[in-house]
Amino acid sequence: MPDHTITLGNVELISLSDGFPLRSPLTPFPDTKIEQWREFPGLLDGNDQYTSRYGTVAVRSEGKLIIVDTGLQEADGTLMDDMKAKGDPAAVDLVVFTHLHPDHVGWNLTNGRPNFPNARYLAPRKDWDYWTQPEVAAGAAHITNQMLPLQDLNLIDLMDDGYKITGELTTVPTPGHTPGHVSITIASAGERGYILGDVAHNLAQAHYTDWCPIFDIEPEVSRKTRHQVLDMLEAEGIMVSAGHFPHPGFGHFVRVASRRVWQGI
Ligand SMILES: [Zn+2]
Repeated sequence: MPDHTITLGNVELISLSDGFPLRSPLTPFPDTKIEQWREFPGLLDGNDQYTSRYGTVAVRSEGKLIIVDTGLQEADGTLMDDMKAKGDPAAVDLVVFTHLHPDHVGWNLTNGRPNFPNARYLAPRKDWDYWTQPEVAAGAAHITNQMLPLQDLNLIDLMDDGYKITGELTTVPTPGHTPGHVSITIASAGERGYILGDVAHNLAQAHYTDWCPIFDIEPEVSRKTRHQVLDMLEAEGIMVSAGHFPHPGFGHFVRVASRRVWQGI
């Protein structure tokens, strides 16, 4: 089995990435200390930087091919090349967004044309309502460039809480990172999984669960959500797909002595 693919019951998950930016952890987490980051073996390089990831996951469920989030589409973005190496963008039936940040909607269109020409696009209604407010959209080029054209093309559907993407995939509200952020639960043939979205941005938050990156729009809400979700995932031993965690982003939250840690596969 290739290292980028796992199966849960009858569901297949395929990890895709749009790039691996190198940055100081103090940039997204300015209230933390570099010594705390050094507690995590192998996380930082010799310059105290870590490798982030713009991750997407493709999901096969009940005969449908679904991709969750579409990366950033910077000049050196790799998502479409990675996708074409592992499958056919024209075969994608549904594009689902965990939330509407620029690094999750980037490859919706190129030069005004949908990159997934046969797909419908599903956005959380609460996040759509937030980002399409005129005063918010005015300062968010990714909404103007990558989301509103989907509405003009009549390609977008909005998801209410608990939306069933298929019989095996259901959204669950996990607000705070953005007001309408959702995660996705997977249940198939007795196996379970969880597509985390940006409930956590870095594996250090397994232990430092209070930490909020500067991207969290409502930090108090995201902190509460993160504790609830990570506690549940740890207690129930559920397989997680985490978009910003190291490739392929699949693993478990487990307890080692007094610390909760991320155990990637
Ligand atoms: Zn993100």
